[in-house]
Amino acid sequence: MDFDLHTHTTYSDGAIMDMMASAAEKYGLKEVGFADHCNVSKRERMKTIKYGYGFNLDQTYERREKALKELRKRRDITIYSAVEMDYDPRDEEEIEAFLQENNFHYSLGSVHYLDGMNIHVEKYFARRTKKKRKKLVETYFDRLERMIELEIFDVASHIDLFERNQALQGLAKIEDYKRIAEAFKKSRTMPEINAGRALKGLKELHPTEEFRNILVEAGISFTAGTDSHAPEDIPQLNSHMDKRLQELGIAVERPAVLQS
Ligand SMILES: [Zn+2]
Ligand SMILES: [Zn+2]
Repeated sequence: MDFDLHTHTTYSDGAIMDMMASAAEKYGLKEVGFADHCNVSKRERMKTIKYGYGFNLDQTYERREKALKELRKRRDITIYSAVEMDYDPRDEEEIEAFLQENNFHYSLGSVHYLDGMNIHVEKYFARRTKKKRKKLVETYFDRLERMIELEIFDVASHIDLFERNQALQGLAKIEDYKRIAEAFKKSRTMPEINAGRALKGLKELHPTEEFRNILVEAGISFTAGTDSHAPEDIPQLNSHMDKRLQELGIAVERPAVLQS
């Protein structure tokens, strides 16, 4: 793999752009994509969360473009301007408007919230009953399916994100995996192989084995991104991902929008 399409910079929760670009160049990548988090929801709760995290690419897009222009002069690597957007069916209008207004090379869509809570928050979900947790995982897939059918994003990121949370782990149903595979078959949106927790926590790539096998059997193509947040993640996660993809016999592609 000579591209990494999912990395974060200080324009969200990652590291300084020049350091990320330098690490990618040094590792020998030909292309790197900065996919900073962005949330454009009008819902009050989401706005509060967004301001807290500082996921404000809707405010800082122009600045980041200027910085990228300078960075490209100094670095011998293709650097893409991308975005990882929080997807929720209630925010579709705002998301579509934002993607149309700005000129990203490609976009990632992610379901990061369930029940108004970030999926990573283990304590919150651990307090729910098993029945409720199963229901929430089903809701996760409802949103993911809708997102894929909508085709607003080029890439669907870490498509079983809830597996990172021990309280939600292992609650997916085969039917859910199958309906997602069907949705990908008909969509321009590609699933991503994501290495965000491949070396810690989950210790596996997303999507996890059972889900991945169903997608592979359905003939779905994957793209890939490490979800690196620090310069040292880039060599570590890329070399790990390369090794695993080789073992699994999975070839990854750039999203169509980058192929033309
Ligand atoms: Zn994410
Ligand atoms: Zn990410």
